[in-house]
Formats: sequence, structure tokens, C-alpha cells
Amino acid sequence: MIVLKSARDIEKMAAAGEIVAATLALLRSEIRPGVATRDLDWLAEEYIRGQGGVPAFKGYRGFPASICTSPNAMVVHGIPGAYEVQEGDILSIDVGVTLDGFVADSAWTFPVGEITDKAKRLLSICREALGAGIDAALPGGRVGDVSAAVQSVTESAGFSVVRTLVGHGVGRSMHEEPQVPNFGTRGCGAELRVGTTIAIEPMITAGGAEVALADDGWSILTVDSSLSAHFEHTVAITDEGPRMLTEPETRPAELAGSPVVE
Ligand code: MG
Ligand code: MG
Repeated sequence: MIVLKSARDIEKMAAAGEIVAATLALLRSEIRPGVATRDLDWLAEEYIRGQGGVPAFKGYRGFPASICTSPNAMVVHGIPGAYEVQEGDILSIDVGVTLDGFVADSAWTFPVGEITDKAKRLLSICREALGAGIDAALPGGRVGDVSAAVQSVTESAGFSVVRTLVGHGVGRSMHEEPQVPNFGTRGCGAELRVGTTIAIEPMITAGGAEVALADDGWSILTVDSSLSAHFEHTVAITDEGPRMLTEPETRPAELAGSPVVE
């Protein structure tokens, strides 16, 4: 069952989302060659708790950290640790915050110093796919509209969408119905009614779509070791259209196609 949120609920999610956005901005300013991912995790946890929030991932099904850090061929769910970020890496960071009973969830893939043209294009297309997905999240539409938009941008560019990992409803819990796959058919799937809140999160690769679980029981890696990118926003379906709750200052049209990193 899809749990619809009231306008008041959505404001609470937006307040959680503000902390998520600020955490990602803080981490972006700290990413440089030599920084260990566990230091980013520590910084994020301290910041989130300092804002009165709770890191939503910590302890979730036993996850041991406050954020996920997934470099290069790691798609998602990387556990922060001793890994030191290197020049030329791309690093996906996923942040979830619970505030006043509501969760917001967002992810970003950051370039570390100079990255290859292919990596730049992967990040740019993933971000564009997210923008297209958000633009398609219209009241009265279907989840498939979002899925098809993400898939179309990604595959037109010659990249692959990971099929075994999906976006999701979000609200009082981090994972609610409906699932929001990054592939699908326009006009199919659950209706996007006003008050639906979803995390739209393209996870794409520069190679094949196949992924596998690593030995740590959490990290998901591309099977062909190709680079992977992940961008995510929590979005509310409103009468006026999609509202991003994890980047309140940026409208979807501005997100789509904009540069990889300002
Ligand atoms: Mg996330
Ligand atoms: Mg998510």
C-alpha cells in the first residue's frame, strides 16, 4: 500500500531533506585525494546529529555506518572504512536522515580531481537521467513514466541501468511502496497520486548492467568492473508537480543537463 503524505508530512520530509542536502554539500567540500571514507562518515554523522537528525542508515538491517561510500565500480551500499579516496576516482555518497519521524534520502556521485572524459559523461548522464525522472513524476502519472524517462536518457547515451536495484517510496520508513525501477514502460505501474513521496535514484554503469554482492555482505559491485554512478533525490508529488525535498533550491529543469559539479 502506498502511504500518502499530507502537506504537513511533506514539510517535515523537506526539513529532513535540508539536512541531507547540507550534509552532501559538506562532504563535497571535504572530498580530496587521501581522505579516508570513514572520516567522511564521521563528519556526516556529527553534522547530522548536530542538526537534531538521526543518520537513517546507521543500524538499518545492521548497516554499520551513517552514510554509504561507493567508489568507482562500486554501485551502492559501500561501507565507509580505511579506503582513501584517490585522484581520478568517482565516489558515490548516499545520505539518509530521519527528523521528527520522517526520512529523506539523497545520493550524489562526486569526481575526485581530474577524471576521465568517460567518467565525466557517466556522471552527467546519470544526473540528467535523474532530472528526467523527476520531470516525469507528475500527479496522475504512473511510476512507469519515471522509470521510462530514466531508462531512455541512460540507454540513449550508451550506458546501462542496473535492474536489480530500484528507487522506492520513502516517508515514515526509508523503504516504502512503491518500488521505482530505473527501467519500465510509460503509463504502467502504480499511480502517482498527490501526496506520494518517492526516492528516484538512477544507478547506472558505463558497461554492463550486471552487479554482484561483495564479500562484506553490503557493497554492490559491477560484475565487469565498469564505473558506476548514482544520483538520488527524494521527491513529493504535489498539485503543482514534482517537488524535490532534498535540494529545495533547485528545480528539476535546472537539474537536468547541468554541469557535473559546480
Ligand atoms: Mg539513498
Ligand atoms: Mg534510496
